[in-house]
Amino acid sequence: MADAANFIEQIIDEDLASGRVTSIQTRFPPEPNGYLHIGHAKAMFVDFGTAKKYGGKCNLFFDDTNPSKEKTEYVEAIRADIRWMGYDWAKEVYASDFFDRIYEYAEQLILGGKAYVCDLSAEEIKNTRGTLTEPGQESPYRNRTPEENLRLFREMKEGKYRDGEKCLRAKIDMASPNINLRDPVIYRILRAEHHRTGNKWCIYPMYDYAHPICDYLQGVTHSLCTLEFEDHRPLYDWVGITLGFSPKPRQIEFARLNLTNLVMSKRYLKKLVEEHSVRGWDDPRMPTLAGLRNRGIPARAILDFCERAGVSKAQSECEIGYFEAVVRDDLNLHAPRAMAVVSPLKLTIVNYTGSETLDFEINQLDPAAGTRKVDFSSTLFIERDDFSLDPPPKYHRLRLGGYVRLKNAYIVRADEAVKDEAGNVVEVRCTYFPESRSGNDTSGIKAKGVLHWVNAETCVDAELRRYDHLLRDADYAGQDFSERINLDSEHIFRAKAEKYLEAAEEGKAFQLMRTGYYKKCTEEGKLVLSEIVSLKDNFNK
Ligand code: ATP
Ligand code: MG
Repeated sequence: MADAANFIEQIIDEDLASGRVTSIQTRFPPEPNGYLHIGHAKAMFVDFGTAKKYGGKCNLFFDDTNPSKEKTEYVEAIRADIRWMGYDWAKEVYASDFFDRIYEYAEQLILGGKAYVCDLSAEEIKNTRGTLTEPGQESPYRNRTPEENLRLFREMKEGKYRDGEKCLRAKIDMASPNINLRDPVIYRILRAEHHRTGNKWCIYPMYDYAHPICDYLQGVTHSLCTLEFEDHRPLYDWVGITLGFSPKPRQIEFARLNLTNLVMSKRYLKKLVEEHSVRGWDDPRMPTLAGLRNRGIPARAILDFCERAGVSKAQSECEIGYFEAVVRDDLNLHAPRAMAVVSPLKLTIVNYTGSETLDFEINQLDPAAGTRKVDFSSTLFIERDDFSLDPPPKYHRLRLGGYVRLKNAYIVRADEAVKDEAGNVVEVRCTYFPESRSGNDTSGIKAKGVLHWVNAETCVDAELRRYDHLLRDADYAGQDFSERINLDSEHIFRAKAEKYLEAAEEGKAFQLMRTGYYKKCTEEGKLVLSEIVSLKDNFNK
C-alpha cells in the first residue's frame, strides 16, 4: 500500500506526463496561531513527503494574514516541531513577505474591472450573499468605475477610512451556485499590529485571495490542503486565471486526520491551556506535537502512523487505539526493558543469603542491544496484585504453596503470608531453588507465571504517572467538547524502580516489564516514570 501512488501522486504524475509542470513544489502552510498537533503531522507528511518523493521542494509558509491572532512564540514552536518530525524546508516564507505584491495584484484586478470597493458593512454583505437555493443581490457599489475604485482603494490603504467602513470585493458572480464566488471580500480594513509588518498596513488581504498569489510567487506547483477548502477551489482558480498565472498552481484537497478521544482544533487546545486544564501546550495528554514529544512518543512512530493511515479524499475518524498500537509496535522494537513495581509488596527469600548480579536481556527483540546486569538479593518487591491468598481459577501468579519464576532470576515457592493487624498481607516469605536460575534451569520445576520484581536493597522510589484520554470515549460523541473533557486524566503512583533507571538517559523510553511503556525523567531530583502507552490494548476496557 505504501508504494502504490495515492490520488495526489496520480494527479502529479499526469501533470508531469502532460508537461504542465516539470518539477514539483509544495508548501506546508500553518497559521502561527497555536502549536502544531498530530493532524498537522499528517499535513506535513503529505506536503513534505510528496515533494521529497518527486525530488522537489517544500517551503514552510506561514499564513499570517490574520494579524490579531498570530505570535512569534508560535512561529518558533512550529519550526522546532517540523524539525523534530525530521523534515526540513527549502525556504521559510510568510504571506506578509508578499503584502506589497498582493496589493499590486489588487490594483491590477481593479484596473481590469475585476474588483470594486464596497461600502456595505460585513453584516450587509452577509445578508445579501443569498443562500444555497437563492442567488445573492448585487451591491449598489458594484458598478463603480475602475478609476473611482482605484482612488478609494488607495485611500483605504492610506488609512482614510475606519475599520470595516469599506472593503475590496472581487467582481465575480452574485448568482454563482458556489457562494464563495459571490463577490467575496478580498481586502478588509483592520488596524492591528502585525507580528512582522508592525503598523505598516491597515488593510489586510483575505486568505482565499492571498493564498493563490503566495503559492504562485513561491513557485508552488501543487497546493495540498484539507477538504474544507474544496469549495474554495473555484475562487483559488479564479484568482490564478484572472491574474494570468502560468503555470497556475493546482490545489488538491485530502481528508483531515481525525482521531477519537482527541481534540484537535487549535481553538480548543488553546482554551485547555488558558484555563489551566492541562500543564501547557506540551502536557503529555495534549495531541500537540510538543505534547506527544513530551509524552515520549517517537517522531518515527507518528510518521509510520501517517503512512499506514494513508492519504485519501474520504472523511473518516481513526480510532485512537490504532495510533497507540503503532506507537506500541515501535517501542516494542526499540525500547530497552526495565523493571519497576507500581504497588509494592515485600517478598523475602528465606533460604537465600548474600547477593548477586544476574544477566538481563535489554530487549529480546533486538539481540544487538545485548545484556546488562540486574542485582538480586533475599529481599525484593513484587506487585501486590501478583500474590493472592484466595486465587481465582487459572491464576498463574503467586499463591501459598505455588511456584512462579522471578523474571531473569529463580523460581520461588510461597510458604507464608505475613499480615499486619488489619489483616493485610505485608510480606510473602518464599523458598527459592538455586538450580532454577534463568538460562541454566536444571531444577525440573514447572512454574507457569513469570513475575517482575525489584531488589528492595537497591531499588529507588519513583513517581509513576498514568494517563487517561483527555476526551471521554465514543459514548459521549456529539456532545460539546467541554462536557466530554476528562480533567481527572492523570493518576500518580508511588513505585519502586530499579536503580538503573535513575542513571538512565533523560527522556528515554523504556518498557517497564508487565507494566507499560514509560519515559524516564527527573523532576526536582526525583525519578519520574511517565506513561507513553500501555503494554496491551486496554483501550476499550
Ligand atoms: P485547526 O483547525 O486545528 O486550527 P487549521 O487547519 O486552522 O487547524 P492551519 O495552521 O491553518 O491549521 O493548518 C496548516 C495545514 O495543516 C493546513 O494545510 C491544514 O489543512 C492542515 N491541517 C490542519 N489540521 C489537519 C488535520 N487534522 N489533518 C490533516 N491536515 C490538517
Ligand atoms: Mg486555520
